[in-house]
Amino acid sequence: MDDRNTTDRTDVNVSLDTRKNIDARNVSEASAGAILTIDLNAIRENYRRLKTKLGKARCAGVVKADAYGLDAAQVAPALAKEGCDAFFVAHVDEGMALRGALGPVPKIYVLNGSPPGAEAECTAHRLVPVINSLEQLEAWRQTAKTRDKKLPAVIQVDSGMSRLGMAPVEVERLAADLDALEGISIDLVMSHLACADEPDNPANPLQRRNFETLRAKLPSAPASFANSSGIFLGSDYHYDLARPGVALYGVNPTPGHPNPMLPVVSLSAKVIQTRELTGDTGVGYGHSFRTREPLVAATISLGYADGWQRRTAGAAFFKGIRLPFAGRVSMDSIILDVSALPPGTLKAGDLVDLIGKEQTVDEVAAIAGTIGYEVLTGFGKRFHRRYIGA
Ligand SMILES: *Cc1c(COP(=O)(O)O)cnc(C)c1O
Repeated sequence: MDDRNTTDRTDVNVSLDTRKNIDARNVSEASAGAILTIDLNAIRENYRRLKTKLGKARCAGVVKADAYGLDAAQVAPALAKEGCDAFFVAHVDEGMALRGALGPVPKIYVLNGSPPGAEAECTAHRLVPVINSLEQLEAWRQTAKTRDKKLPAVIQVDSGMSRLGMAPVEVERLAADLDALEGISIDLVMSHLACADEPDNPANPLQRRNFETLRAKLPSAPASFANSSGIFLGSDYHYDLARPGVALYGVNPTPGHPNPMLPVVSLSAKVIQTRELTGDTGVGYGHSFRTREPLVAATISLGYADGWQRRTAGAAFFKGIRLPFAGRVSMDSIILDVSALPPGTLKAGDLVDLIGKEQTVDEVAAIAGTIGYEVLTGFGKRFHRRYIGA
């Protein structure tokens, strides 16, 4: 074995020893291409604002999809500090992870209910399924049979969204056979609004009336109806427990009106390199952009693999100065026209802002032809995440 081989082998061992999956929780600030800042104090303030709006009704926290991509293990304990004691996730696995982050006391509700066969995992982690069908109810009743205490559940009725929850005929069947609830205690009867972000949509009052009719057929239990936008439809929509998600994370729950929430996330990307281009030069894939006159370009370390959709022709900002994208968004990089800055302003490693004061999550969503929810949940794993108020 010659020296070079030994050296190679050592290098290989070192790199294998330190190999990890990229995980949003351990990308360092120095190595990352972009930095996502999440302000937990703003999330707490948003929770307080929603509570004020709700008056006497209680306020849960919806932390499904890892708290809309912002890390439920950070977000949920911050909400718990504000007195939030009921949380909603979509999946059983999310609930199990959240139980670890929150400890044994808070209520954790699973919106999609338990898939067939996962009931024991729910009971082991004290997760309360949202029962969406008579089938899910029967599985939960069978699970309850094996226990000496009643098992809690949420009953969801479909008041008009046609997505999840018992249809009116199922509610009738349940009302006619309340033995189906044997061994089960009902924590909540809930339903979900399809058009809450359109306050004038007649579907809202119609769903509310359907909800009233359906829940009157069931044993009396606290009611839950409003998501973020539903809270802003007025107190008729508040019932006993509201279920906001996106408003907590700073997305505007009242589209078309000023945002009543504080912004929560900001996103900055690092400059990789800058270059001077002469006129009539092709820039980026497909040369979809050609310079008309000389310009200074900077390439930044963020692309569609990080959740910045390829279709989102936008801009970055440096100290408030707008730097438009030049050419297509690549997988790992975007080229900016930085000619608006004095020559030599940007160096490798400098940060430009993509989400912040100058460009909100809602504005980025509008440019991409989507909604703030999708911008937040689309963020990839390669950002360094900085939590304010952790
Ligand atoms: C996602 C979800 C919520 C939260 O909705 P936001 O619009 O983010 O406030 C509430 N209830 C149900 C059933 C949901 O699926």
